[in-house]
Amino acid sequence: MKFIIGNWKMNGSKEEKESMLKSLKGLKTKNKVVLCLPFTLLCGENHGITIGAQDVSNHDNGAYTGDISAKMLKDTGAEYVIVGHSERRLYHFETNEIVKQKATMAIKNGIIPIVCIGETMEEKNSGHTIAVIKKMLLESIPDSGEYIVAYEPRWAIGTGLTPSESEIVTAVKSVFDALPNPMPILYGGSVNADNAQDIVSIPYVDGLLIGGASLKSDTFLPIIKSVK
Ligand code: PEP
Repeated sequence: MKFIIGNWKMNGSKEEKESMLKSLKGLKTKNKVVLCLPFTLLCGENHGITIGAQDVSNHDNGAYTGDISAKMLKDTGAEYVIVGHSERRLYHFETNEIVKQKATMAIKNGIIPIVCIGETMEEKNSGHTIAVIKKMLLESIPDSGEYIVAYEPRWAIGTGLTPSESEIVTAVKSVFDALPNPMPILYGGSVNADNAQDIVSIPYVDGLLIGGASLKSDTFLPIIKSVK
């Protein structure tokens, strides 16, 4: 069983959610499919499909206007939450410390965090990938509980570029070796139906985190079907 997790980012209407969930419901797969939706689409009928969120507050509750707590997420039926996505680290200045607090808050409320890490192109070109992702990993993961790690090179997100197989195995093995306990490790960054099966066949890769290609059933379903 491999994880295939879609990240809709800031996209999607009620109608689009309904249509995607209906197509997923009819699909036979041994993979674990999760759809991480924007907050506005978390409530409502999910047709038995596993739903996740894309962010969570690092606070329990209180005067944090606009934020959504892990307890509120749990209330919607969300079972997973992405934390520390590179877009949140970049545009919302989320540090490893904040990401760890968010992951910890999710676990405390019975939600599995998907902790994202990944290097920039500059860090890759200067030969610092492994040092960078190890530091991000060890400073971002919670001290205990169940979580997932997503290795997403920043330069591969939404660009059509992907690392070579040997770059992925080196990075993902370094994550595997650094983890205090074994946890699933995903790859994310420009996954499509043509490269999905090759990427999940790489040692230590337990699944995929998919952005753009998860938005439409025309592109998401072929990925799910291609992963054996
Ligand atoms: C992502 O946003 O997590 C992602 C992997 O995006 P994309 O698949 O579009 O590169």
